[in-house]
Amino acid sequence: MKSFFDYEKPELASIFDPPFRATQIYKAVYQRSFDDFALMTDLPKASRASFSVEWNIKLPSVHRRFDSIDGTRRYLVRLQDDELAETVYIPEESRDTICISSQIGCALACTFCLTGQLGLTRHLSAGEIVTQALVAQRENLVPRPRPSPGAPSPEASPCRARASRARRPLPGGEAFNIVLMGMGEPLHNYDNVMKAIRILHDKDGLNMSMSRITLSTAGLLPAIERLAAEPMIPNLAISLTGATNEKRNELMPINRRYPIEQLLDAVRRFPLKHRQRVTFEYVLLGGVTDAPEDALHLVKLLKGIRAKVNLIPFNEAEELSYRRPLDAAIERFQQVLIENNISAFVRKNRGNDISAACGQLKKKWADEPQRVSCSH
Ligand code: SAH
Repeated sequence: MKSFFDYEKPELASIFDPPFRATQIYKAVYQRSFDDFALMTDLPKASRASFSVEWNIKLPSVHRRFDSIDGTRRYLVRLQDDELAETVYIPEESRDTICISSQIGCALACTFCLTGQLGLTRHLSAGEIVTQALVAQRENLVPRPRPSPGAPSPEASPCRARASRARRPLPGGEAFNIVLMGMGEPLHNYDNVMKAIRILHDKDGLNMSMSRITLSTAGLLPAIERLAAEPMIPNLAISLTGATNEKRNELMPINRRYPIEQLLDAVRRFPLKHRQRVTFEYVLLGGVTDAPEDALHLVKLLKGIRAKVNLIPFNEAEELSYRRPLDAAIERFQQVLIENNISAFVRKNRGNDISAACGQLKKKWADEPQRVSCSH
């Protein structure tokens, strides 16, 4: 069976006869959350039956859900081959955020990141990326779909039964942000990630505006240049962390291939809309990247770039030997940036108690006691 979520609407329009079925089914699946062709009573009966045999429109199941005391939820989404994709739902005051993964594991081996210790198992398909967002959206935001009269009861489907418990009813795409900051390096899985972004953006699908999608990269320079030439470009975030080549070479091996100056030159050329900025993520590692001199190096590097800096105090893990800086060091670092007219924010640690924070997504569930609630 083919996964419907792997296909863009124009591709489907060239497969389906008549082509407008693509729009019809897109709307039913993405906007009305139907997961059974039998519910699509506006399709001819024979098509419903044949589509059911050929196309899978069911979302993957949630293998496990961890709930943080701060409201953050971490999902392990079970894929066809039993690999688990990690997705994090982060409720926020203004707009909630869904953090999705682009790979199982990661090839880049950043020394401060748990996912980096795993190595790469495989890329995720476009559909596997898209469905992570749908799973988190339906569990948290979407009201129960209303099928047409005469269709089978929605309670028959566990997916819709879950949706009926959703926290609050909100419409589709504009209700949340998506960040590609979960497991993996999105630009290493370029084609599938871009396809997923186009699917999420489709106006007959989730209708996510590009300004609500952020792609975070460790700095795959050729892929950044490729991204710059795309017709649709999400927000760009660059994970910097080291502010000199010497430091960055040690922390992020990718820097040995694409040194900082070259990376930042590509960022300078990156097309930005009016008032749009590039986000730089900078992990504060106690005694390693948190000195005021590091902040001054960072100031120098970012000259001439419309930048915003997110400072992420290191999230500690037994397997990693770094430590979180003292609060005073975090404040001082931020102050140096602000004094030099750079917008700098300290990212709050979210979901720390459930290993959902930045860099903590890793197979930690296998042997750990079930100390957090799990509804699946
Ligand atoms: N590969 C992409 C996206 C995944 S990492 C990238 O590098 O941008 C998402 C963010 O988490 C990155 O900014 C990374 O620097 C940060 N991060 C990784 N490990 C961390 C840790 N232990 N504590 C805090 N942030 C971490």
